[in-house]
Amino acid sequence: MQFVSYWHDTAPVFGGGAAGPIGGHYDVAVIGGGFTGLAAARQLAKAGAKVVVLEADRVGSGASGRNGGHLNNGLAHSYPAAKAELGKERAVALYKAFDAAIDTIEQVVGEEGIDCNFRRAGKLKLASKPKHFDALARNFEQIHAEVDPDTVLLSAADLKSEVGSPFHGAVLYRKSAMMHMGRYATGLAAAAVRHGAAIFEHAAVTARQKVGGRHELTTDRGRLTADNVFLATGAYTTPNFGYFRRRILTVGSFIVATRPLTTAEIADTMPTNRTCVTSMNVGNYFRLSPDDRLIFGGRARFSATSDQRSDAKGGAILKAALAQMFPQLADVGLDYCWGGILDMTQDRYPRAGSQDGVWYAMGFSGHGAQLSTHLGMIMADAILGREDRNPMKGVDWPAVPGHFGKPWFLPLVGLYYKALDRIQ
Ligand SMILES: Cc1cc2nc3c(=O)[nH]c(=O)nc-3n(C[C@H](O)[C@H](O)[C@H](O)COP(=O)(O)OP(=O)(O)OC[C@H]3O[C@@H](n4cnc5c(N)ncnc54)[C@H](O)[C@@H]3O)c2cc1C
Repeated sequence: MQFVSYWHDTAPVFGGGAAGPIGGHYDVAVIGGGFTGLAAARQLAKAGAKVVVLEADRVGSGASGRNGGHLNNGLAHSYPAAKAELGKERAVALYKAFDAAIDTIEQVVGEEGIDCNFRRAGKLKLASKPKHFDALARNFEQIHAEVDPDTVLLSAADLKSEVGSPFHGAVLYRKSAMMHMGRYATGLAAAAVRHGAAIFEHAAVTARQKVGGRHELTTDRGRLTADNVFLATGAYTTPNFGYFRRRILTVGSFIVATRPLTTAEIADTMPTNRTCVTSMNVGNYFRLSPDDRLIFGGRARFSATSDQRSDAKGGAILKAALAQMFPQLADVGLDYCWGGILDMTQDRYPRAGSQDGVWYAMGFSGHGAQLSTHLGMIMADAILGREDRNPMKGVDWPAVPGHFGKPWFLPLVGLYYKALDRIQ
């Protein structure tokens, strides 16, 4: 088994990084080369701005190249809860932003000719317990009537032709999609460069200061100035951006990928190959890869770190969960195991805006593979002075009490959610 992201291992390496020392002046400096930063850079460069991306590692090396490969519409929260928490108008706007985010990716993929297996697969939100189905059905009624007529409520009997495991029903979200995340990251970076952006990899920003109304950014490879800074560092935000570190909770999520399944094994487990998410608080998400592996992920354990040791522990828990859900695959070998860090906010809603002269979009809370591209482009438009379409504009973002960058309380949160799963 390889301890490497399947998406990284099976995508071409981005070869368009800028060489030489870093210097000069830019209209916009984007910090972070994940989907948020790359999409913003492409949009800015297309509009003629002089833009640079500074990425600490390689493009797509963060969550964008480590996720489950789902481009799901629908909110992480129940829709009635979102209406109660955000007000109906904003809840609808956020719901629609997820729909639009998938359309945006489809459009970018088409315009730039990115070969990344984009497919409108549909998502199944699977009820793990009978009473979870009742809650899904109540949620479905309002979603279907108010925001998303492309949803369908499926009974346990309907599900038999969808998933080879005894779930208690599901909601099918037809707009959801899937793609190869590594190929998209490389393609998006290449597109940004084609439009004129400079991308420096292995260029961590270690300091930012304001000098004469401009931002000065320091990296190991040199210093530059910029009129605008866009922070797109998600869960990987470094301590020098303390305002954001106090608001972002970093939570590990882990994934295993099987060997390619046979046609018979697919027919027995995932014949329709949609993106699937279970209803548990500490649940699982899965889909097939373009070469027919089952890509099976979950929070698994509440750790703030993802390294080989941590990923291996998560992988062992996932192997057991996979065997329990699909006993027919219990003996199928695992070829990949990896993990990554989620950028959670306390209320699990994303945030975008500007703070102390720094533009940002982050806090996708495990639902950012689609929204990162969309919000990255929306914030690029805001920087360009175009219409501000940010669905979270003006929403308060208080610091997490007692949180200074390392979520010491994560194991307690894990125990809480596991206890909820036992009783709910
Ligand atoms: C295991 C896992 C599974 C997931 N599954 C899904 C899924 O199936 N569907 C879904 O919608 N979402 C999923 N997500 C979430 C989704 O992947 C993220 O929300 C999204 O990729 C965030 O993109 P981003 O560009 O904002 O951040 P990232 O892709 O994390 O990029 C941030 C980048 O900033 C760089 N950086 C940080 N600090 C600095 C600095 N000081 N200087 C320079 N560069 C810096 C990092 O190196 C990194 O490359 C998952 C996430 C994980 C970890």
